[in-house]
Amino acid sequence: MTIELINTGSELLLGRTLNTHLQWLGRRFADMGHIVSRQVCVPDTGPAIEQAVRESLTRADLMLVTGGLGPTSDDITRELIARLLARPLREDPVVLEQLRQFFAQRNRPMPERNRVQALVPEGALVLANPYGTAPGLAMEVRPNPFRENGQASWLMLLPGPPRELRPMFQEIVVPLIRRVLPEPGEYVCRTLRTTGVGESALQARIGPLLQPLVAQGLDLGYCAHSGRVDVRLAVQTAAAIDLVRTAEIVVRRELSAHLFAEGDVELESVIIQRLTERKETLAVAESCTGGCLAHLLTNVPGASAVFLAGLVTYSNAAKQKFLGVRATTLAAHGAVSEPVARAMAEGVRTRNHATYGLSVTGIAGPGGGTADKPVGTVFLALAGPFPTVVERNYNPTDRETFKQVTAQQALDLLRRHLVNDRAS
Ligand code: AMP
Ligand code: MG
Repeated sequence: MTIELINTGSELLLGRTLNTHLQWLGRRFADMGHIVSRQVCVPDTGPAIEQAVRESLTRADLMLVTGGLGPTSDDITRELIARLLARPLREDPVVLEQLRQFFAQRNRPMPERNRVQALVPEGALVLANPYGTAPGLAMEVRPNPFRENGQASWLMLLPGPPRELRPMFQEIVVPLIRRVLPEPGEYVCRTLRTTGVGESALQARIGPLLQPLVAQGLDLGYCAHSGRVDVRLAVQTAAAIDLVRTAEIVVRRELSAHLFAEGDVELESVIIQRLTERKETLAVAESCTGGCLAHLLTNVPGASAVFLAGLVTYSNAAKQKFLGVRATTLAAHGAVSEPVARAMAEGVRTRNHATYGLSVTGIAGPGGGTADKPVGTVFLALAGPFPTVVERNYNPTDRETFKQVTAQQALDLLRRHLVNDRAS
């Protein structure tokens, strides 16, 4: 099945708004076993939208058009499509009533402009939008005058704001697609998540071993994120599932120390889960990551059972005051040093009565580097009921990436301990 995505919105092309729809929708379609064949982003102008839809109608079985269903003068998708398909627009009394209620519930008068959102092209299904004023629309173009032999296509229009589009897609569009379009092929996909090894090093280790399986049809992909590389193993038919199984055995054997999860599971979730199972607690002391570590940990539901405290001790004074790092240690070794990382981890652990204390101190740059401690140098320490472990890493990137990568490395330091420590 051919699926195409048309994202409308001049703000996307001006770089004012990140176009998140391809990534988000592409992923949802893949989860259903469909692959988006093509995506195009066009400005809010009539000719651009019309040309994109016209072209897509010559190829696609399903077209998803996002944006331009709002009430303002640049929201013209609805009118354009009605005109292109020669379907008159009619005001739908049910939609109009829903719009009125939307405003009444918020104690606001309904602006006259919003009335256009109740216009529905003839024969279109209205996709209710509980999260905003613009309803979506779905219509079957049958026969499709733009396609050879008139083969039918489905055209679905969704509002641009992600917080409206996403729940509507999940709750309404997915069931509709399942109902009106043919079942997808039996796409099988397995994602294994690794940390602590770079993309090319990882490929060098498993690529040659998996080559015979790739020759037989295995789709092998690598996707690098900050501090993490995902390995994707997929096949297009369920009959070929053995290729995925065999590949997974190879990857697990080669990369066991680096594998931390499957699918969408984040490293911080693994940590919270393991600590919860072990009835252990964690406190973190951060400098250069500025709270990123605490942010990741507190993204996980249930973190409060195990995560006691996160301190951002940016200055030397704060490291002394809140963690008990000695002035002499700071003076002798500098804030970015093995002894300071150690003292931070031990300080945050004992002061919070936690099972583990985790710390990071480093030089994010662009200034502040020296010959023996260049920008990107970071010390990570883990204190616990064992001699404190300190690691030195080098992450020479921009500040934001530095924070993410370093936080991920700190989590991995704890993860490796939790995996290797089988005592409990
Ligand atoms: P629209 O329905 O085109 O009026 O979109 C309204 C809002 O949704 C604006 O704030 C847009 O920036 C946002 N938006 C539209 N398309 C996208 C997209 N592809 N990704 C992220 N945000 C979007
Ligand atoms: Mg718009």
